[in-house]
Amino acid sequence: MDELLELPGVARKTANIVLANAYGIVEGIPVDTHVSRLSQRLGIAKSKDPIKIEKELMEIVPEKEWFDFPYLLQAHGRTICTAKKPKCEECILKDLCDYYATLSQN
Ligand code: SF4
Repeated sequence: MDELLELPGVARKTANIVLANAYGIVEGIPVDTHVSRLSQRLGIAKSKDPIKIEKELMEIVPEKEWFDFPYLLQAHGRTICTAKKPKCEECILKDLCDYYATLSQN
């Protein structure tokens, strides 16, 4: 991780992806736009900063799930919890979701 972060243009997201996919080393959870948006909507991360979101997620997601977790959020973010118009009524996570709870109150 430290060596990758020394490369120009490489931040933790890219370093996490390269380490996990090329070397099988899972040191963290890469936070892209989908992971960031869904983590905030679900209420499992409070920060807007990707580095802080990653730390929050690493505290609650079991380490053995760190590799799969971002891919699951990305798939959900592309199909259901889209940026502009989340399909909350179709969402299997709505009973767990802070964003949906807020919608339901209004
Ligand atoms: S209930 Fe809505 S906001 Fe919450 S995860 Fe599902 S689609 Fe996203």
